[in-house]
Amino acid sequence: MLTFAIAQQSRMDKLKNSFFQAYFRMPVPRLVVRTNFPEYTIMEVNNSYLETTGALKENILNQSLINLFCNPGEVTPERIKLEEALTNSLQTNEQINIEEFEISSLNDEADPVAWWQVELMPVAEEAEQPAYLIVTTRNITRHILSQKELHDAHHREQTLHEELAATNEELFATNEELSKTVESLKESQESLVTLNKELEQRVMRRAAELFKVQTDLIAQHQLLDTIVNEVPAGICVMEGPEMKMKTINNALLELWNRDESIIGLPLLEILPEIKTQAFPEILAEVYRTGIAYSRFEAEAELVIDGVKQKFYRDYSYTPIKDAEGNTHSILSLSIDVTERAIARLREQELMEEQSAINEELAAANEELATTNEELAATNEELNESRDHLQQLIREKESAEAKLELAIEAAGLGSWHIDPITKDLHYNAVLARLYGYEGQTPMTYDQAIGQITEEHRELVVKDIEQAIKDGGLYDVSFTQNRFDNGEVIWLRSVGRISKDELGKYTIFSGVVMDITEQKKDEQRKNDFIGMVSHELKTPLTSLNAYAQVLQAKAVKNEDTFGVSALGKVTDQVKKMTTLINGFLNISRLESGKIQLNKQHFNLDQLVKEYIEDAQILSTHHKIIFEPCAPVKVFADKDKIGSVISNLISNAIKYSPSGADIEILCDIKDDVAQISVKDHGMGVPAKDLPRLFDRFYRVESEAMHLISGFGIGLYLSAEIVQHHNGKIWAESEPGKGSVFHFSLPV
Ligand code: ADP
Repeated sequence: MLTFAIAQQSRMDKLKNSFFQAYFRMPVPRLVVRTNFPEYTIMEVNNSYLETTGALKENILNQSLINLFCNPGEVTPERIKLEEALTNSLQTNEQINIEEFEISSLNDEADPVAWWQVELMPVAEEAEQPAYLIVTTRNITRHILSQKELHDAHHREQTLHEELAATNEELFATNEELSKTVESLKESQESLVTLNKELEQRVMRRAAELFKVQTDLIAQHQLLDTIVNEVPAGICVMEGPEMKMKTINNALLELWNRDESIIGLPLLEILPEIKTQAFPEILAEVYRTGIAYSRFEAEAELVIDGVKQKFYRDYSYTPIKDAEGNTHSILSLSIDVTERAIARLREQELMEEQSAINEELAAANEELATTNEELAATNEELNESRDHLQQLIREKESAEAKLELAIEAAGLGSWHIDPITKDLHYNAVLARLYGYEGQTPMTYDQAIGQITEEHRELVVKDIEQAIKDGGLYDVSFTQNRFDNGEVIWLRSVGRISKDELGKYTIFSGVVMDITEQKKDEQRKNDFIGMVSHELKTPLTSLNAYAQVLQAKAVKNEDTFGVSALGKVTDQVKKMTTLINGFLNISRLESGKIQLNKQHFNLDQLVKEYIEDAQILSTHHKIIFEPCAPVKVFADKDKIGSVISNLISNAIKYSPSGADIEILCDIKDDVAQISVKDHGMGVPAKDLPRLFDRFYRVESEAMHLISGFGIGLYLSAEIVQHHNGKIWAESEPGKGSVFHFSLPV
């Protein structure tokens, strides 16, 4: 503390104290301030301060120290520092130093910030409160700045050092990493080489696999192709809104009867007939919406080869889409189910029919109920009718009994043969006729066994024929009686009739004794034979005389006599032939016909008879188609008469001028002669009876042609006696062919 010696002086006086003045005027910037808190008003300022700060004395005096040193109004740490120091100095009355004070209120533009060392020294009377403060300042800015710079430099150096160390460390680390990286790079390179090799191998394997996959794919494609083509379903793909045919399998082509030329054509061009059917609209819908469509048993009408046909098919339309999901084609798949559909339709029809029937049945049921009532009524009537019927049956039985009686009375035997078992039933008359007295009933075989050998075969054949064809059975035959062996003539007439099932089961008939009749016929035959024989003798002498007379007339050149006697001879010849016919009949009937068999050439014989006939008839040309010479063993005259008869009939029943053709044929040990004419012919109904005795066709034309109906009968008998056959074919108005054959 600066203690002033002159205590009694006023304050200003004190300041004007020479000592103080000396002190104050020292070349150190100093200020004197009053201790009036809080202003600390500046009372004096020395020159050094003014020089150092460049301030004007009048601006500083009476100013607040605080406001001079600090920016007025701002509470800064420097202001607080200053105020504290001031307060402290006043309280302690001691000198207080502020070592470093940043002064900011100096208007030095070159050096806006300056640091001062500020020394605050209170000036007081002894034991009194200080009244002044001497404020001494020293500019330490340069020192502070250099110190700051030094510090900054130090700091920078340190930071640099640290950064360097850090960088170094990083570098080291990086280096290590690099060397590691290099190593791993090396390793990587090696593994890359290995990898490369492996990759190459893999690529090769993959290529091989791919090749195999490709081959498989081709095979699969072919397989798919085959499947698509062989599958019994129609498959096709149609493209674009026009449905252009893109792919189509064989099954569908076959169904449509088209070929691959339709590929690329729009569907409606291929099948215009479906325009009016549902398919085009459905296809358009599937194409538009991309939603698949399928149907069972769809009916389609297609025109195949110009013919409209109905098909039933299960089919589906599936859209085929691109990556964006837009439909570009449609896959159509269809299977023919026509049979199934027809069967189902038929079933449906049947069911409908069934239900119709059911309804009808219901109706019928009602009717039945009514009918039932009616039936009850009818039943009563029936009861009456039954009584009536029983009456009738009784009558019928009595009628049958009467018939039986009549049959017996007429001397007729009656018989019944079961066509299958040949069980025989007969009446008493038959047993009597047969002379059968056996204990057990006569069997069919027993009855047949009694027929004489010459007729047995024929009878059996006729019975079999009647059973087979259901025709009439009428046969005459001789048989030995069972009791005395006497030969009797019997005629059996029967018919096989159908039972209620329509089967021929009832074969029955009657048998009568015609022995007397036959004997009468025999007598007649004998008479004809005798008469014919007696007629022949005068005819022979007539013929002889006529010939003698003719020879004489020739000698006398009597031409009339020659021709008249020639006609007589011809007529005699005709008459002889007629008489011979009758004679032959009687001989035949009495079984006296005899065959004088010899070997001769049949073709030669035919030729001779043709020549004879040609001489007699000049109005017909007889053409002979000769065959290879054929030898037969037969009665030459009788076979001759057969040939002659057939030729003369052909002439007789043909208009004059019509040709007659005669053919000769040898086949399988049989010689066959055929005589063909272009005459009137024979109606079909007469053909089977032409060879019967005395049978002549009934017609107007026939009345003009004379004849007895014995020629064909005799011819047939002769041929049959030679084990040959004779038959005729004819077409009325066109002509006939008569054939006969002989075993060679
Ligand atoms: P006829 O000639 O004496 O009447 P046939 O026994 O020779 O007797 O002939 C029997 C019948 O067969 C004849 O009446 C005739 O109706 C018919 N007939 C035979 N041959 C022929 C023929 N060639 N053409 C047409 N009818 C024939």
